[in-house]
Amino acid sequence: MELDKRPLHILLVDDDEDDYVITRDLLADIKGQPYQLDWQATYNEAVEAISNRQHDVYLIDYRLGAHNGLELLRWAISQEHQSPFILLTGQGDREVDLEAMRVGAVDYLVKEQIDAAIIERSIRYAVERKRVEAQREALLESEQRLNEVTRAISSNLDLSDLLPNVVRLAAELIGAEAGGLALITNYGESIRYPYLFNLPPHFSEHLHPKGQGLAWHIVQTGESLLLANYASHPQATDYWKQAGIFSFIGVPVVAAKQNFGVLALFSLSAEIQFNDRELALVESVGRQAGFAIQNARLFSETQHRAKELETALTRLEELDRLKSAFIRNASHELRTPLAIMRGYVELMADGAFGELTVAQKEPMGIVTARAKMLTNLVDDIIAVLNVETVDISMERVDLAALAQTATQEFQLAARRAGLTLELDIAPDLPSILGAPFHLGRVLDNLLSNAIKFTPSGGAVRFSAYQQNSEVVLEVADTGIGIPEEEQERIFDRFYQIDGSPTRRYGGTGLGLALVKEIVESHHGRVQVSSIVNEGSRFSVALPCFSE
Ligand code: ADP
Repeated sequence: MELDKRPLHILLVDDDEDDYVITRDLLADIKGQPYQLDWQATYNEAVEAISNRQHDVYLIDYRLGAHNGLELLRWAISQEHQSPFILLTGQGDREVDLEAMRVGAVDYLVKEQIDAAIIERSIRYAVERKRVEAQREALLESEQRLNEVTRAISSNLDLSDLLPNVVRLAAELIGAEAGGLALITNYGESIRYPYLFNLPPHFSEHLHPKGQGLAWHIVQTGESLLLANYASHPQATDYWKQAGIFSFIGVPVVAAKQNFGVLALFSLSAEIQFNDRELALVESVGRQAGFAIQNARLFSETQHRAKELETALTRLEELDRLKSAFIRNASHELRTPLAIMRGYVELMADGAFGELTVAQKEPMGIVTARAKMLTNLVDDIIAVLNVETVDISMERVDLAALAQTATQEFQLAARRAGLTLELDIAPDLPSILGAPFHLGRVLDNLLSNAIKFTPSGGAVRFSAYQQNSEVVLEVADTGIGIPEEEQERIFDRFYQIDGSPTRRYGGTGLGLALVKEIVESHHGRVQVSSIVNEGSRFSVALPCFSE
């Protein structure tokens, strides 16, 4: 790197005037680089001159009367002086040499050996080293500031708060005097600068129609722009020109190929010229602003969707409540007339109102069976809704006794269906806390399903045992089984694997829903495992009773 050709200002601190004269002559001999050498003879004068920070390089003699050059060096470094210091001393002072480097001198010259070439080289290296150091520090500093900007941008999802700050932060990052953030509006037809830094607010009102102005140019090319003189660009806008813009940086604000607008920064005096490094910094801010806008939009969209879902859910819940209320009312209204009808029909079928003719017997049988089915359906519906809404009173229940009663009641049905029904209750089965009537319904439903869905010749087995702190009730059959994909849905209300009008098995699809709801209201669990054509096993686990 060549030193530039303005004179380098050098201060020599040396108590010997002869040395000053020699040094001045040496410097005068050097070609290609002018030097201006100033001289201070005493420590105190040197302190004052160094404080003024007007020199590019300092040559300091080790001997300075009552003080020495190292003291002066220490003092200068303590003042955070950034310019290079070169220490001059006599032959053989190796200790001084080492100490000088430790304190912060960039070089050490032995006076007797100095000639024009040595001093030129030492000064050149010193200046270059300081320049590189300064550059590295500037880089570190801008990286640090960029990190701060990144933190500020990424920690804010509120765009109205974030975006005006983005312009200010970017301007501060590169020392720009003014700036603006332009956003595409009007369904992609215009660009406007809603966020300004150090510019008249009315600039915000101006709408740039598609294709006009530098912001559009940047959006359309997708490329950043660095201009030394804004006004000379053919796309420059008049009113921006009048704002007195000199250097200009404009970068696209994009995320995932979506264009949001442009971040533009300006210098308002000819002395401030932006460079490529600053352009790269602003590009990084532009990208971050793009992500921030995208994130904020996604966030508000998600919030919006969540609100919509919440409203829909509330509505569904309301509908569900209305539907349940309607079904409950209708069922209650149906219950009494049905019971009366069923009573009369059964009496009639039994011949209580006169012997039936042979032709009447079969249709009367059908009417009786259907009346019974309808009554059961209404009872099931009321039971399901009651579990949901009515508080059931709990007591200590002996499940062994309950199971015994249930299986006894189903022995006849099983025999008729050509099945065996076995009961296997572990001795000392603990009792549980529950509602006997409801638990009875659980067993009834599981047993009647097992019998209903098991072809003649099969077996149904009821077992009850303790497992850890639970009592498990199991109804296993050797029936038609349940395909795996149906095993969860069979617990839904009104769900039947074959729900067609021509289905083989009767039922309402409410039995297992009732089982599940009752079991859950007892803080228990119901599970099914099943293999098609081999059989099914329903198990209900209920917490043991504890005092
Ligand atoms: P349903 O009144 O139809 O029996 P459930 O709620 O009790 O209603 O049962 C729902 C569906 O689950 C039945 O329609 C049947 O398809 C299936 N299912 C229930 N238990 C068994 C079982 N033991 N074997 C085979 N399928 C069964």
